[in-house]
This record gives sequence, structure tokens and C-alpha cells, in this order.
Amino acid sequence: MSIYNMDLEKVIKKIESFNAKTVGLQFPEGLKTQAVSIAKQIEDLTDATVLISGDPCFGACDVSDKKMIGIVDLIIHYGHTPLPINYKIPTMFIEAYADVDVKKYLEEALPQLENYSKIALATTTQQLNVLNEMKDYLEDHGKEVVIGSSKSTRKGQVLGCNFSSIKNLDAEVYLFVGSGNFHPLGIYLFTKSPVLAIDPYGGTIRNMAEYADKILRIRFARIIKSQSVKKWGILVSSKEGQYRMQLAKKIKGMLKDEGMESYIIVLDNINPDVLLPYTDLKGFVVTACPRIAIDDSQMYKKPLITPKELEIVLNKRTWENYQLDEILFHEKYKY
Ligand code: SF4
Repeated sequence: MSIYNMDLEKVIKKIESFNAKTVGLQFPEGLKTQAVSIAKQIEDLTDATVLISGDPCFGACDVSDKKMIGIVDLIIHYGHTPLPINYKIPTMFIEAYADVDVKKYLEEALPQLENYSKIALATTTQQLNVLNEMKDYLEDHGKEVVIGSSKSTRKGQVLGCNFSSIKNLDAEVYLFVGSGNFHPLGIYLFTKSPVLAIDPYGGTIRNMAEYADKILRIRFARIIKSQSVKKWGILVSSKEGQYRMQLAKKIKGMLKDEGMESYIIVLDNINPDVLLPYTDLKGFVVTACPRIAIDDSQMYKKPLITPKELEIVLNKRTWENYQLDEILFHEKYKY
């Protein structure tokens, strides 16, 4: 039995109202185990044939609409909220909220929040449904609670490439609920404020300062190593929501002005193996998903850095002003 709400009834209604004959299903890695059971239920309850997208999927930046164009009438994309990009096939987004009991973690977190009165809340898609419950609980315990919003995300939602909702909030401490380190790390780096991360799946409450310090040390080492690179690869993802060709060309121009060579490489999925043939290139700047350079850093032998880190390498930004890269979708086409 899944802890996620896959909204099957809503999906069936949509397929029927759409009179879809072939339906594409797309899941992030963590929900792929549900794929066969959902496909079976859809095929049992409707006349549609289901096609499951087997490629990796990490966000709504990567809906399989391009690959399924002309093959399916409708895509059901699970686990993410839509981004303001132009999907080529009608796509229904199912958030797949998790059934998590946050109260016991809030109770546990309260002593650590003792010295703060203004708290900001943030989360990722699967826990958006518990934010109001968290807000009520904290308010009942005398806290002032703020939940930020932004143009391309839901209220209180952060993406690994978009932290707009937590910027410029009047808060002393940030409380993140969700799994993994990347999102609370981003909140910590963008706000320079204390961040407590509640992981209801792993059953932990973590203060992000120590982890952020570890990551910054690694990033600093990569930046130092990059200072000897004279021949670069600039990686552009062909995924609709990660495609930043104008930024890549701008970077190429910047490197040329510094007397360096660079080559733009366009690819779908970025991993160490696909970069192996480019033995002439000594470092890479990745314009695709900002998480790649940070999360997968240890997998790459050559430096793989973000555009903002390159600015530090080229002395156009100071280390003190270190920032994570973001893809601000409404600005994407301006890059
Ligand atoms: S670019 Fe990366 S962080 Fe942003 S939605 Fe896509 S996978 Fe997530």
C-alpha cells in the first residue's frame, strides 16, 4: 500500500472526459514502483491503452511530451507541479501528496525553535498538503508563521532550481519539511538564516549549518581546481525546462574574452560516462539542472561547476557572494 495519494479517481475522470485512447504515464524515480499497478487500474477501468515512460524523470522540467508526441493523447505526470513552460501534449499533473504525520516532528522541533518567534515554512511537492496544518500548530504555540509565494511555484514550495518563494521573507528561522538535503541547503544559502529540516520519511530533524559548511568546502575546492582549466565544455540539456542555450552562448563569449576555449555540448541526461570521450576538455560548466553539479559532484573526476561558480573562477563574483544556480522560468528565455 502506497503512502502517496495517486488520485486515481481524478485520473480516470480526466481520461474519460478526454476520450483518450492512449495515455502516457510518467513517474519520478521514487514513484515508479507504483507504475504497473496504476497502469493496470487505468486499463481495467477505461478503454485506454497505457504507455509507461521508462526514462529517468526528476521534475516537471522533463515531461515526456516531446518523446510521446503523436503517440499518446494525454500524459499523466506524477509527483511534480507544472512549470510555466509550453507542454506539447495535454498533461495532467498529479502531485502525489504523501500521508505524513508532521505533528510529532513539530512537537520535537519546538525546543529548537524556542528562541525564535518568526518562522517561515517551506517544502517540496509531496508535502504541500501539510503546510497549513504546520502553520496552525506553530501559531497555536505562539509563533508568527509566514509562507512565501512565487510566480512559478506553489505557496511555500521550493524546487531544486527555484527558491523564489523563500526569498525576502520576514523570518528568523526556516522550517523545511521533506526528504533530502538539497532543498534545505538552498534555503540556508539563499537566506543566510538558520534552517531546520524535518524529514518525516527518515524520521530526522536536522540543523543545516553543518551540512552547508561541508558542501561549501567541496564547492570551494572545485572552484580552485577550475582555475587551471583553459579548455571547457559547456553542457546544455535538451530537456524543455532545463534548456538554456542563450546562457551557454553567453558563457562561451565570457570564456573567449578571457582567452579560453570552450565547446557547447547538447545532451539529454548528464552523467560521468557521457563526458568521458571529451578528453581534450578539462572542466565543464553545466547550464542544465543546478542540482547536477552539487549532488553528483563526487562522481566526476574533472571539475563540473555551475554558471555562478564560473563567475567566481573568472573573478566576476566574490566567494563571499556564493549562490546556488537557479532556473527562474519566467526569465529563462532572457538568458
Ligand atoms: S531543473 Fe532540476 S531542480 Fe529544477 S525541476 Fe528540473 S530536476 Fe527539479
